[in-house]
Amino acid sequence: MIKSLFEKAIKEYCSFNPKTISIAARAEDMLGDVFKKIDSIKSYNQLKVITSMQRHKLSESHFIGTTGYGYGDRGREILDLIYADVFGAEAALVRHNFVAGTHAIAAAMFGNLRPGDELLCVTGKPYDTLENVIGIGNEDNASLKDFGVTFGKIDVLSDGSLDLASLRNALNDRTKMVLIQRSPGYEWRRSVTLAEIKKASEIIKKHNNDIIILVDNCYGEFVEDKEPLEAGADLIAGSLIKNPGGGLALTGGYVAGNKKLVEMSASRLSCPGIGKEVGATLGQNRFMFQGLFMAPHVVAESLKGAAFCAAVMEILGFEVLPRYTAARNDIIQAIKFKNKDTLIAFCQGIQKGSAVDAHVKPEPWDMPGYNCQVIMASGGFVQGSSIELSADGPIRPPYIAYLQGGLVYEGVKLGVMNAVDNMLMVGKV
Ligand SMILES: *Cc1c(COP(=O)(O)O)cnc(C)c1O
Repeated sequence: MIKSLFEKAIKEYCSFNPKTISIAARAEDMLGDVFKKIDSIKSYNQLKVITSMQRHKLSESHFIGTTGYGYGDRGREILDLIYADVFGAEAALVRHNFVAGTHAIAAAMFGNLRPGDELLCVTGKPYDTLENVIGIGNEDNASLKDFGVTFGKIDVLSDGSLDLASLRNALNDRTKMVLIQRSPGYEWRRSVTLAEIKKASEIIKKHNNDIIILVDNCYGEFVEDKEPLEAGADLIAGSLIKNPGGGLALTGGYVAGNKKLVEMSASRLSCPGIGKEVGATLGQNRFMFQGLFMAPHVVAESLKGAAFCAAVMEILGFEVLPRYTAARNDIIQAIKFKNKDTLIAFCQGIQKGSAVDAHVKPEPWDMPGYNCQVIMASGGFVQGSSIELSADGPIRPPYIAYLQGGLVYEGVKLGVMNAVDNMLMVGKV
């Protein structure tokens, strides 16, 4: 009944190729068990968030925005406590002042690394924007390298798992922080599981208990029923215009974990002596609280959308990562198109399915910070928000598109159907 009403709406409001409609129906029929699992994790996380809000006696008064120094901003304090609770942390720092996830991760690094220390990444090349923070290829830009912090990396194995033997060998007296990036960024690799984070943590802590394990948690929040701090990490950081902002946070980022390490990160976001004690919230608290409240639900919608996209693309014969049936550790769906035109047709189709800027046609462009052109489909209510439906791909072989987000499953479905229709129209499938 429900599905037939969706099809009724599709016929009433859209003009899809009948082939697109039948592929979509076939894909959704394949997803019953996948959706059940996503819903069960969602229920768990949803309860975790709501009961934490109850325990901390969240009230309307916490939504009032402060100005100036932001003294006595009880909402800011309680938001930190609730995030800490939900992520299994001793403390958290949740701020709209973080420009983006990169800034939160950078604060965690700069706050806790000192000249002579080594930062070791066990998930290969870090996310593009972090290369400038670390100082890869550019060292005189106030990067970690500029401050005398060196960097080492270990690539993941060909099956995507962490190279634990190389990790053992790479740990040395100068290793101060190990970075684990949960989600692949623009790499063709699967996301890191919590079980792997646990194994790596055990090896690292056995070598030296003082080494800080930092997880770049972007796109990983609420995908599983546990979070990386519960698997041995000391510190996590991420973006509020991804999973934990639930689509409602207008900007920001967070750091959570060990109390001392979070305080050091706060001293970098503001300054020593001020740390997390001060800072006006300017009316942003309500969005951050309500966004966190929505986050487990929104993440589930995104995951369903990602699985739907995988199933559709598998039907069409494309290689996808992860497969539609695979367990997921982040909300990203990668599709390998093997040629430029198909990648572009896909992304332009996703844009056509958005609620905002559906009439705009994205084209590849020279994005700052990237070494090739990138095409980005993002018709969001919040600029650049990738917990909203978005898809992007660097224009280089093997022409992979990365799809993520979707506040409502139907929106993703509509976007993917538009993408298929677009690909059929330009003769790319
Ligand atoms: C999105 C993302 C970041 C941070 O990017 P911002 O655009 O600064 O929020 C870092 N690491 C990974 C893996 C990401 O996906």
